[in-house]
Amino acid sequence: MKHLIRKDFLKEGYVFATRAAEIARAAGHTRPARLASNENPYPPSPKAVKAAADVLPHANRYPDETNKEFIDALKKRHGDYRFVASVGMDGIIDTVIRTLIADGDQVAVATPTYSYYGLAVQAQGGTTVSVPRKADFSVDPEAFCRDAAGTKLAFLCTPNNPTGTTETPETIAAICENYEGILFLDCAYIEFDGTDYRPLMKRYRNLIIGRTMSKAYSLAGLRVGYAFVPEWYEPIYQRAATPFTLNMVSQAAATAALRDTVHVKKIVSVVQEWRQRFIDECPYPVVPGGANFVMVDVAPRKADDVVTELAQKGVIVRSCASFPGLPDHYIRVSIGEPWENEAFIAAITDIYQP
Ligand code: PMP
Repeated sequence: MKHLIRKDFLKEGYVFATRAAEIARAAGHTRPARLASNENPYPPSPKAVKAAADVLPHANRYPDETNKEFIDALKKRHGDYRFVASVGMDGIIDTVIRTLIADGDQVAVATPTYSYYGLAVQAQGGTTVSVPRKADFSVDPEAFCRDAAGTKLAFLCTPNNPTGTTETPETIAAICENYEGILFLDCAYIEFDGTDYRPLMKRYRNLIIGRTMSKAYSLAGLRVGYAFVPEWYEPIYQRAATPFTLNMVSQAAATAALRDTVHVKKIVSVVQEWRQRFIDECPYPVVPGGANFVMVDVAPRKADDVVTELAQKGVIVRSCASFPGLPDHYIRVSIGEPWENEAFIAAITDIYQP
């Protein structure tokens, strides 16, 4: 029946870090250090867990389709902006692409970066134009606007996955000024960095800022993302969104998690301390970044070989060899629980070859 399927869906999809996990299992590690998926190793706020449990008996009803409590909590946290919410930021990315991209449309992507943008664009019949970052992985706004000319939509991730590098608000402003399409700024990891792009929403009508509850807020398993959107765009987004997108358990947990500022601050400061320790103690150079992971340059060795050796020692990290635009000597390591971080530092020190 494969002839019935659109050819875009017969290509390779999202790459999960399963190979390293299999190697670790085969080597007898029943509880490996899991540092490949940029998850938060700490459980969600107990207030979020309770809020989720409290709504479960009401699951016979559809959830509030306006996500009112969550949106109100977002306004309280961030100020008077327009928000939309979805099933993870991936859900937001998907819906935004659906409102803008039709067969043959072009989308610019600042590479190397998160792979899902390209997959989602292809699924909608669009094509991507790769806008290469500079050698230090930062984005040159002039080059970006030149390379992205003629595209309807552009994706820029900051802090960027997998490099960890963060752009200044001035760079983003310069792009918004000169780019004629809509800029989707992916800020999945921004809480670990603290750069504030929110004021740009008041100045530009072509900016969307995506955020997620999956990382700093420890709710990856409940799939909640949200975005700051321009006022004119909000009704258009809503038209393309699936009805009742966010389930009531996710809404309740995300609302409570957002309100528990003490919990998230604690997690962010632990992650930042470990990020510094990775920079100080990893024998290979670490690219300076602002996320809950670091990218490590393991040259002259190959990323895939280093990932295999670390997995054999019970430490699962991600090879960056599959990221288009990156040479094959970078690995990405999430900041995990202290014992996992210690295990990584010990293992990478062990296999280091100067
Ligand atoms: N953007 C980036 C850069 C990411 O790394 C991820 C998570 N892998 C996402 C978006 C999607 O996050 P969510 O869990 O909110 O769908």
